[in-house]
Amino acid sequence: MDKSENPELNLLGNISKILMEVSSPIDILEALQRYFSKYGRLSGKFVELRKCNIYLYDENTKTLRDYSKSWITLERTNTNSYVDRLYLIIDQLTKFSFFVNHVPYIYDEIKDFTQIRTNNTDNKILLPLKQGNKPFGIMELIFPNAIINTLNPDFFRMLMIAAYQVSVKIQNTILTDQMQKNINFHKSMKDIAKIIESQYELNYIIPIIGEMIDRFVTDHLIYIFLKDEKTQEYKLVWPQTCRDQRIYTIVAHLNEKSKYILSDAGKVGVFPLIGEKSILGCVVAHSSQDKLSEKEIDYIEQLAKQSSITIHRANVYAEVLKHATLDALTGLNNRRQFESRLKQEVATAKRQGRPLCAIMMDIDFFKKVNDTYGHFAGDTVLKAVSNLIKNSVREYDIPNRYGGEEFIILLPSTKVDEAYAVAERLRRAVEATTVDVPDEKGTGIAFSLKVTISLGVYQYKEGDEADELYQNADRALYVAKEGGRNRVVINDGTLKGKDE
Ligand code: GH3
Ligand code: MG
Ligand code: MG
Repeated sequence: MDKSENPELNLLGNISKILMEVSSPIDILEALQRYFSKYGRLSGKFVELRKCNIYLYDENTKTLRDYSKSWITLERTNTNSYVDRLYLIIDQLTKFSFFVNHVPYIYDEIKDFTQIRTNNTDNKILLPLKQGNKPFGIMELIFPNAIINTLNPDFFRMLMIAAYQVSVKIQNTILTDQMQKNINFHKSMKDIAKIIESQYELNYIIPIIGEMIDRFVTDHLIYIFLKDEKTQEYKLVWPQTCRDQRIYTIVAHLNEKSKYILSDAGKVGVFPLIGEKSILGCVVAHSSQDKLSEKEIDYIEQLAKQSSITIHRANVYAEVLKHATLDALTGLNNRRQFESRLKQEVATAKRQGRPLCAIMMDIDFFKKVNDTYGHFAGDTVLKAVSNLIKNSVREYDIPNRYGGEEFIILLPSTKVDEAYAVAERLRRAVEATTVDVPDEKGTGIAFSLKVTISLGVYQYKEGDEADELYQNADRALYVAKEGGRNRVVINDGTLKGKDE
């Protein structure tokens, strides 16, 4: 059969084909437009589609949204505006097959299709989008006056089938989005639980949790508050600022019995972080547009619970680690152990008149590693660099994790030239190393990356206090950074830098 002989069938065939290929709302609407125009030409009926809109109805919030414009909510105005009329039609969608210029019709009951009232200008045909028998939206087709030539059963049946195809497509898309969201949710839960495997400092953990929740709940602003033990006040800890004073007021209402608080017509949700004995703080989700859906509340509530567990464990670890000497992530001496070793070594150097050096080092652009590849990759780099340090130093050297991505090595009985050689060897080793970041399962390599380090070297001088040893090494490190990074600088007392 010649395609042009049955333009309705041809059009439907094309629509179903294109719907299989596209998925974004814009693409769907564009495809409809394209094929309707073609239909107009092919059939010689000139019903080129002027415009096509899809409005979806959200049961939960009882609002209509524009599918193509990132689900923008269409607000009721109560002035009998076009949007108001769409809201009225929502309630009638189950009863009628379609609406032409707001007049409802039941397909099977139409005796004479040519009697359908049209305008001289634009003609709006609205068709229900349904899942089974349940309408969930409206497809709006705007045709020019030429529609008058097509007022027949075939044309309207074709529109109804097209609406059906679009319904199925949109339902599938929503389902896929929901599934993706579920996958992301479980990933966030796992990630929040996983932080603690290597990190235990709250001021390090909270921003990570904040970022994870924020990444998951993209439509809302997320804030994290922690309760100050002494003043019992809630303090914003993530992000750095919250301009909305109302949020502080709502948060202040949180009490020990609170489940979660919804406020501002459901647009603000406050979810407590509950510790073993009392409230630790809260996660706040704030939307300027939409009220939180039940599903979102459920998600955030669970993320907040997982965060509470992680924070609680961090506190327990911190308590235990008060007595630890090793850093949990790298296995090097921790800061406290470093402080005591420093005192010992300086005392020994003084007493025995032996040389003592310090190498202060810092990973270059480490923040970028975290930002680009994630904190897990950052941790992997920290471990890899720590291993290089352990392997580069001699038996009696004392490597320490000073904090974050900063390390300090004490080198007893070592003169500055030798210390420089150690530092330079380490710099090269790091430069030459490719760090393999394991994949999720830990069975393979997800990707590899390289970093460099900057180092500052200082040799203890008679009369120096213990603190001056690392302060002077740190000054050299600062100059190494200023000088372009990936280099070693010796502080021989003639440096121009930071404080000079
Ligand atoms: P520069 O070359 O000047 O040193 O730049 P930088 O980005 O390395 O400097 P900055 O000191 O601003 O960044 C250090 C970052 O290290 C910030 C912090 O998020 C990250 N960090 C600190 N501790 C840890 C940790 O234990 N694990 C991970 N993954 N990142 C950490
Ligand atoms: Mg750094
Ligand atoms: Mg640093």
